[in-house]
Amino acid sequence: MEKAYDPVKAAVRRFKTDYENEIEVFHFENETEFSEWYKHNSLSHATWIQQTRNYSKKVVPPGAILNPQDLKYTDFKRCDHHGKKPASPPAPVLQNEENCVVKRRKTKSIKVGCKANLKIKCFNDDSFEVTYNWRHSNHTPENIAKLSGSRLPEAAKQWIQEHVDKHNNWEGIKNFLRLDENQLNEIGNHGTFKEIPVAMLINYQDVQNAILAKLNAAARKHKSDGKRVVLWLEYLKENGYETMRDIPDNTDAPFVLSWYSPWHKKYLEAAEDWFLDSTHKTCVSFIDKRDCYLMTIVVHNPITSKDLPVAFFITSVKCSPTIERFLSWLKNNNNLKLKRIMTDCSATEQRAIISSFGSTIQIFLCHWHLQKAWEDHIKKISFEGDSADKKAARKLLRARLYKILYSEKEDGF
Ligand SMILES: [Zn+2]
Repeated sequence: MEKAYDPVKAAVRRFKTDYENEIEVFHFENETEFSEWYKHNSLSHATWIQQTRNYSKKVVPPGAILNPQDLKYTDFKRCDHHGKKPASPPAPVLQNEENCVVKRRKTKSIKVGCKANLKIKCFNDDSFEVTYNWRHSNHTPENIAKLSGSRLPEAAKQWIQEHVDKHNNWEGIKNFLRLDENQLNEIGNHGTFKEIPVAMLINYQDVQNAILAKLNAAARKHKSDGKRVVLWLEYLKENGYETMRDIPDNTDAPFVLSWYSPWHKKYLEAAEDWFLDSTHKTCVSFIDKRDCYLMTIVVHNPITSKDLPVAFFITSVKCSPTIERFLSWLKNNNNLKLKRIMTDCSATEQRAIISSFGSTIQIFLCHWHLQKAWEDHIKKISFEGDSADKKAARKLLRARLYKILYSEKEDGF
């Protein structure tokens, strides 16, 4: 069995190239000879990226004997520093292709327009001819200290991928990258080292990129945001969730999206108290990228004694009709035991609750939001006297209002 790849044992070597001619041509009898040369020369000079493999287009009649001197294929490899630095990351193009993953990677570009390349011709008799344009422009590939900017060897990338697929994160992967003391000493003793363990080249960003790519592939059901939302809601529905979706053709009209799981439903139905929690600017519209509202029904979980979000609602416009749509949908689809709804000081929410549930449900206003609303008003009132008088008047007003807020009996209120 082939031994598993180990980035601690594997090393990247770098030697300075020095050939006589600007472009060198080499010949090899067979693939083994070529591979040996490639491993100990080109691969020790720089990191190469396979660009193309072109197979010979020469038509051979069936049954004819192949001419051993004829070309089988040509490989073309470039230095990983080739190409121009992109001015800014190109915007993803929206097309109707399904399930196309848009890569969002954070990597500094290493492109400096290097012209070094390898043209590898393979012939029918398994011999090779390599045209090596070995001069690098605008960078020094033998500078091993700068290797961290280079691309990782394919085997190392594969190794990271295997660990990410096993749900290992950076903390876990880091443990596999520890060099032993001998290795560290050896590196420390050579001021100008020519060899570096691959483990030293793998960094947080490499692992992060692999994890992001994996999450992206799993989360992106379609490259268009609008279609993705629809596909996700369909997916949830297939998995037993209750979903509501109203996306009008008129992009100015408010859209509403809502969902909860079968597991949430139990808590939603059993609760006598709901907390209506509304947040703004937590998400943007998939239609026009404007800020949206996320509304959550939170209930008290008697088992964990903690608050539990049980139903979710997203809308582009927070107005009584959209909230009412959400609340009525919950009311009509569930066997509710609901008695009270606590909300912040929003009149819009209160109107929506009354339209959906009538007077059967008590509305409680959140103390924090009430105090905040009062405080806003107190600040606007102009009291008479000097600043000390004003301060005292405000303090008295606050004290009286809070007495009302915390009165336990109706008489006290
Ligand atoms: Zn180069």
